[in-house]
Amino acid sequence: MEAALDTNIQYLSGVGPKRAALYHKLDIHTIRDLLYYFPRAYIDLSSPCFIADAPPWEICAVRARVVAKSSPQYVRKGMTIFKVKVADDSGSMLITFFNAKFTVEALKYDEEYIFYGKIGGSLLRKEMHAPAIYPASLPSAFIPVYPLTQGLSSKMIAANISQALHLLDENLPDPLPASIRQKYQLCHLHFALKNIHLPTDRESVEIARRRLIFEELLMLSLSLHTVRDDTFSQTSYLCKNVDLSPFLAQLPFQLTGAQQRAISDVCSDLQKSTPMNRLVQGDVGSGKTMVAAAAAFVAFQNGYLSALMAPTEILAQQHFQGLSRLLSPLGMRVALLCGSMTAKEKRDVKERIALGMVDLVIGTHALISEDVDLPNLALVVTDEQHRFGVGQRTKLSEKSDHPHTLVMSATPIPRTLALMIYGDLDVSIIDELPPHRQPVKTYVISSKLKERAYNFLKEHLDRGLQGYIVCPLVEAMENSPVNLQNAEEYADQLARGPFINYRVGVLHGKMRPKDKERIMDAFASGEIQLLVSTTVIEVGVDVPNAVIMMIENAERFGLSQLHQLRGRVGRGSQQSYCILISDNKNPETKERLEVMHQTNDGFKVAEYDLKARGPGDFLGKRQHGLPQLKIADLTTNMDLLTQAQQAAEELKGFTNLNEGEKQLLKQAISRILSHVGEQLN
Ligand code: ADP
Ligand code: MG
Repeated sequence: MEAALDTNIQYLSGVGPKRAALYHKLDIHTIRDLLYYFPRAYIDLSSPCFIADAPPWEICAVRARVVAKSSPQYVRKGMTIFKVKVADDSGSMLITFFNAKFTVEALKYDEEYIFYGKIGGSLLRKEMHAPAIYPASLPSAFIPVYPLTQGLSSKMIAANISQALHLLDENLPDPLPASIRQKYQLCHLHFALKNIHLPTDRESVEIARRRLIFEELLMLSLSLHTVRDDTFSQTSYLCKNVDLSPFLAQLPFQLTGAQQRAISDVCSDLQKSTPMNRLVQGDVGSGKTMVAAAAAFVAFQNGYLSALMAPTEILAQQHFQGLSRLLSPLGMRVALLCGSMTAKEKRDVKERIALGMVDLVIGTHALISEDVDLPNLALVVTDEQHRFGVGQRTKLSEKSDHPHTLVMSATPIPRTLALMIYGDLDVSIIDELPPHRQPVKTYVISSKLKERAYNFLKEHLDRGLQGYIVCPLVEAMENSPVNLQNAEEYADQLARGPFINYRVGVLHGKMRPKDKERIMDAFASGEIQLLVSTTVIEVGVDVPNAVIMMIENAERFGLSQLHQLRGRVGRGSQQSYCILISDNKNPETKERLEVMHQTNDGFKVAEYDLKARGPGDFLGKRQHGLPQLKIADLTTNMDLLTQAQQAAEELKGFTNLNEGEKQLLKQAISRILSHVGEQLN
C-alpha cells in the first residue's frame, strides 16, 4: 500500500524530495485543514472502454498504448498541434493536443495509458481532443476533481493533498467518539480522509463521504446547541392576559385573519411559563410587523421592556417611525438605538432604558453591544432573521433571563433545518396578504427597451407616484472608493438625462447613516420621486406610494433577492410593476427570470431558486446565518441530518465521554463555531 501511495503521490504531485521535506514540517492542524478540502467530484477510470466501443460524443476513459506520434504542426503563431495515434486490441484512435509539447514528449511508445476525454471524429475514425492522461498502472481508479479557486491549480491542490495524506498518522485522533461511530456505522476519520482523496472504488468514496457529512452536520448541530438557549427553561417574564382592543383601535386597518391567528399564537405563548420561541413566516408585505407590535404591546401592559432588532439602519429607522406613531398614543415609550448615533445620543437612550423609561427599544446589532443593558427585557424580536448570524440573535436574548423570542422572516425554510437552527420552535404562517393588494406585474425586458421603460416610469411619477431603480453593478464596485462615485454618477446621469424634470435621490451602502436616513425620509415623504439605489433597500423598506421597481442587470441577483426587492412595491392599493432588465442570453438565466414573471408567490420563488442555484447559494450564510458547509448539503442530506441531530441530542452535556473524547469534540465544535455569528452588513 505504501508503495502504491507513493506512485500516486509522484504521479499526482510531481513533488521532489526537497519539497517533500518541507511538508514534514507541517503540523497536524495544517494537515487536517488541507485534508478537509474535499473533492467536488470524481473521474471514474475503473472500467475503461475499448476504442471500438467508445460511444461517440460522450466523455469516457479509453485504455490504449501509444503507437505513433506525428511531428508538430505550426498552425499559426502561438498554436501548435500534436497528433498521437493510440491503439488497443479493438482498433486505433487519433488524439490531438494543442501546445502540449511536454505532455506529448512524456508519452512513451508502446506504453499503456488511460485517456479521459470526449470522443469525437466519426464512428470509423475516432478522435479525442486534449484528454487528461493517467498512467494505466494507477492504483486508484477514482481521480478526485477539486473545486478550483483563482491562483490554485488542480495540480497544486493534488500535490498538497497527497503530501498531507502521506503524512497522515494511522493513529489520527477522531473527533467522533467511538460509541457514536459504532451506533451510526461510520468509518474512522483516517479511513475517511484517505478514501475521500484517494479512493479505490465507488463504495469507499461513499463510506468516506457519509462519515464526513455526518461529522459536519453533527458539529453544526452541537455548535448550535451551545449557542442556543435551553428552551425548556422557565422564563421570568410570565405575562397576564391583555385586552388588545386599545391596540386594535389604534390600527388604520383591520388585521387579516392570518395576522390575527399569529397574534393569538403569540399571546398564548406569552402566558406560558416556558419562554416563547416562535417564528413568524410570511411573504414580503404580509404584515409581520403588526405581530411584533402586538407582542410588544402585551409585554408593555405587563410592565416589561421589548427589543426589536433589524438588520439595517434604514429598516430600524423605519420601524422606529412607524411603531412610534402607532404605539406612542397608547402610552408606550419607544426608543431607537443604532450604531451611527452620536455617543451622546446613545448614552441618553441607554440611560433612559436603564431607568425603565423605555418600553420598546428598536435598533440594529448595536443592541447586542456589551455596554447596552436591557433590564426587564421580556421580549426579543428579530426582524428579517435570516440576515443575522445565529450567534447574534442569541446574544440579544442572553441580555436577559430567558426572555420570549419572536423571529420574523419572509424566507421559507425546511422544517428540519428550522429545528436545527432554532431548536424546538413553533411557527406561525401568515399566508394571506392585506386586502386590496394587487399582485405586482413583473416583466423581463432587454436594455433596448429601457427608453420605453423610463417613459413608463415617468408617467407614473407624473401621477404623483414613486419608483425605484436598483443597480447591482454599483454595489459590486463599492469596495473601491474610486468606483464609489459611480453610484452617484449613475444617479446623476439619470437626473441630467431622462429624469431631468424629476426629483432623483441616490442611496447606497457606503453613505453615512445620517445621509441614508435623510434620503429615506425624503423618499418616504414624497420629496424624492425616484430613488436610485443599490440593494441596501432590499429588506423591509415600506413606502406604499412607490409602485415601480426597475432592476438593472437582473441576472446578477438570486430569485429570492429579486423577490425581496419586488416586495418594495405593491404595498398600497395601486397597481405596481417590477421591471427586470437583462441582456443575458443564457437560456437558464432567461428561464430563471421568467419565474419572476410567472409567480408572485415567495414560496414558489424560493423553491425554484433552491432547485436552480443549489443549496450553496440558497442556504448560504446570507439566508440563514449558518456557516458555509464543506461537504454536507442541507437539502439533500436530510436523512443524515436527522441522524446527526439525534446524535447531538445524545451527546448533549458530554456526560458519557471520557476527557480525551470531550476535548476532541470541543475542538471540532469550536472550529465550526468560528464561522458562525459573524456580522453580515
Ligand atoms: P412585512 O414585514 O411582512 O413584509 P409589513 O409589516 O412591512 O410587511 O407590512 C406591509 C405593509 O402593509 C405596511 O405598509 C403595513 O402598514 C401594511 N399592512 C399591514 N397589515 C395590514 C392590514 N391588515 N391591512 C392593510 N394594510 C396592512
Ligand atoms: Mg418586514
